[in-house]
Amino acid sequence: MASFTGLSQRYDPNTRIGKLSVLHCSAVLQQNVSSTWMMEPAVKSQEALARIVEGVKKFQAEVYPAQREMFESLKGRQQPMAMFITCADSRAVPNLFTQTGPGDFFVERNPGNFVPRYGDFVGGVSAGVEYGMLVLKVPLVIICGHTDCGVMKGLLHEEEVNGLPAMQQWMRHASEVRQRIMRDHSDAAQAEKLRLITEYNVLAQVENLKSHPSVYTRILSGELDVRGWVYDIGDGSIWAADPESGKFARIGGESGH
Ligand SMILES: [Zn+2]
Repeated sequence: MASFTGLSQRYDPNTRIGKLSVLHCSAVLQQNVSSTWMMEPAVKSQEALARIVEGVKKFQAEVYPAQREMFESLKGRQQPMAMFITCADSRAVPNLFTQTGPGDFFVERNPGNFVPRYGDFVGGVSAGVEYGMLVLKVPLVIICGHTDCGVMKGLLHEEEVNGLPAMQQWMRHASEVRQRIMRDHSDAAQAEKLRLITEYNVLAQVENLKSHPSVYTRILSGELDVRGWVYDIGDGSIWAADPESGKFARIGGESGH
């Protein structure tokens, strides 16, 4: 495996993979991934890197200088106004659809916008929650799902995650949501099931979040508010859950779906 400890060692992340790792990988990834999940990359890596580097140059030449003061004010500390937990999906960009900027959100992203219950699983999400609550002391947490979520589709069609052992493990953090759909809405149309599971998942993850002592105690003392949202990728609308009823209504107008 690659080691980055010595300055004299060449950094070569693409080829320093040992024989043992290759054997291990082929053992783990022995199943074929469901064909409906597979897609071809839109661009080759060199083209992707070139486009990203162009973006870096543009940021340095145009964006940073225009907001230098703001960036410099963030140099030594952060004081975000909210923790924002959303899916890893490339189309869900919280700072864009909330028109916020650097320093505003402490962000946690993962496939399905899950928050494992406290004690079930200690990983990045739990560490992020702890840091957000006890160090940054954010006054608000928003858990935000989105339309057309691949993970939600995988919950509805478990065969779609064949060949994805890590995803299968991870998706157990929403197993109750899946059961609820199968129990209460088995006759619903596919699009309706997908909408419902996306909303139920957000509500379930809000409950999971409250199982974390650092969250629970701050809610009890009135220091923290937790909200559940769904972002509609196609039309840009945000649907917020009513904290009492759990019903989702569009922010900025119109009644429920
Ligand atoms: Zn998603």
